Amino acid sequence: MDCLFCKIVAGEIPATPVYQDDEVFAFRDIHPQAPTHILIIPKRHIASVNDLDAADAALVGKLFLTGKRLAAELGIAESGYRLVMNTNADAGQTVFHIHLHLLGGRTLGWPPG
Ligand code: 5GP
Ligand code: ZN
Repeated sequence: MDCLFCKIVAGEIPATPVYQDDEVFAFRDIHPQAPTHILIIPKRHIASVNDLDAADAALVGKLFLTGKRLAAELGIAESGYRLVMNTNADAGQTVFHIHLHLLGGRTLGWPPG
């Protein structure tokens, strides 16, 4: 499958890992939009939030709990952070393997652009 993030999970494309277990991989975004910008992904290919179903509930919960834990470990839990998944064109999704952005380390604008 021609998926950038599946290739990162497989080690075929280099990345800077922050955490991994049997289901989840977290690595630094190549074009960080904040001092801390981590991508948290399932190792299993899922193209977008639109492709999630009830059987994925625990996996999605694990992505968020990984984000929470990494925010604490990286020292941004108290200052604040954002966990966000972009879906399809209007949200600016460019890689069609779901990824939870963990952004923090600066004041983040709201609403996003
Ligand atoms: P999206 O716009 O789909 O929500 O986010 C895709 C993210 O993947 C972007 O923030 C982009 O910088 C990041 N990205 C794209 N290609 C690579 C890559 O090869 N390596 C890493 N680490 N991040 C990437
Ligand atoms: Zn994939």
